[in-house]
Amino acid sequence: MNVRDSEAVAAMLEAAGHERAASEQDAELVIVNSCTVRDMAERKAVGKCGNLIALKEGRGRAARSAGGAVKVVGLIGCAVKRLGDEVFSRLPGLDFAAGPRRMGMVPRLVERALAGETRILELPDDDEVPAGLDAHLASGGAAGPSPFQSYVTVLLGCDNRCSYCIVPDVRGHEYSRPAREVVAEVRSLAANGVKEVCLLGQSVLRYGRRTPAWSEADPPSPGGFFEPFPRLLEALDAIPGLERVRFTSAHPGGCTDELVRAFQTLPSVCRHIHLPVQSGSDRVLREMGRRYTRAEYLAAVAKLRAMDPEFAVTTDVIVGYPGETEEDFEQTRSLMDEAGFDNAFVFKYSPRPGTRAAALPDDVPEEEKERRDQVLLADQQRRGLERNGRLVGTVREVLAEGPSLRNAARWSGRDSGNRIVVFEPEGRVGRGELARVAIREAHAQTLVGALA
Ligand code: SAM
Ligand code: SF4
Repeated sequence: MNVRDSEAVAAMLEAAGHERAASEQDAELVIVNSCTVRDMAERKAVGKCGNLIALKEGRGRAARSAGGAVKVVGLIGCAVKRLGDEVFSRLPGLDFAAGPRRMGMVPRLVERALAGETRILELPDDDEVPAGLDAHLASGGAAGPSPFQSYVTVLLGCDNRCSYCIVPDVRGHEYSRPAREVVAEVRSLAANGVKEVCLLGQSVLRYGRRTPAWSEADPPSPGGFFEPFPRLLEALDAIPGLERVRFTSAHPGGCTDELVRAFQTLPSVCRHIHLPVQSGSDRVLREMGRRYTRAEYLAAVAKLRAMDPEFAVTTDVIVGYPGETEEDFEQTRSLMDEAGFDNAFVFKYSPRPGTRAAALPDDVPEEEKERRDQVLLADQQRRGLERNGRLVGTVREVLAEGPSLRNAARWSGRDSGNRIVVFEPEGRVGRGELARVAIREAHAQTLVGALA
């Protein structure tokens, strides 16, 4: 989400006449886009900003050795909304700060800062809709994984209020962008060579639920979709030139029969869902306010896998939530096995000020959080290898992204399930093209094959 917001800000600055610097050292203006979902993320963003301010003021070792060109430093994103005025006591030399739903103001703030103003603060209201949501860099999705892939924001904010999560406080209320706007944005991206879009929202299956996405003036769904999100997928599937549509993140409550039908009948909709589970213990899920049980979660996974056994399901898990016992943790382990996740992101619980869980004692010791983290990661290595092993001998359709990081002779790309596939292009496949790859080898995180 922050990659996308950063791209939009960069595109707005480009449109206002600024040029992209070759490196941070060459830049006169540097803006740090922050996250505050965990304490460490916020500390990193604030620390980075502090270093840039030192560079600007000619202080510190970095300034003496590199002597950067930086004149203006700005901080944007979720940490600004959380810190409010405090941002300037933490970062006295900061020129401007803007919360996530004020990103459209950034070009104006840069002008004011260049004119000599300092310590400008813009805190958004919870219902604001920023300008520039559809601004993309001229090179297509350059801030995405490749110029052929682009992120598109469809839903802002979140109203779920899970007990541990600061997102609703900093990103405001749920707001769905009108479908007409999203379709126009994706159509223009596809006309500029984008082959794959990833639709973004905290709980993206809530699209069109709190605020309307479709109006009477919109044409009816040709396939008879009534739910706003499947109907959006259908409209995007019809866009010429667009090969793939992905989305993230999803909540099991939104895994309706219509969504399954969308996966099944719309060829460009990728067979992957990122479905954060957070815990496998019903007791913990209830305390977190996740509004599903373990059984309901597993039923949603089973529904998708009944349609396609290779349907990829990935997840987020929190270890060390207040009061998480060994038994709760074992429930998470067994759920992860039962769900057969293709990949999992594991987070150690971090108390966030103002959330319900922050009032509870953070009673799982750090070493124990670390142990649980490592256990789940080791389990996932084994599981990933097992799941990927089933694909050896099959042919996967891969969107070629270009030379892989480790070995330039080999290219990497992703299959519909978002699995990384490594292959040799043999001069037959170009970047951004679809290739058919016969899988020969499986690792926990990658598949290796040859053009079929
Ligand atoms: N909206 C998505 C959902 O409902 O699952 C996820 C949003 S959150 C930005 C991304 C992930 O960060 C969450 O799925 C959760 O695992 C993790 N997370 C959120 N708050 C956390 C906290 N206080 N401590 C540790 N991890 C946290
Ligand atoms: Fe946070 Fe829950 Fe909203 Fe996800 S659904 S952003 S975890 S409050």
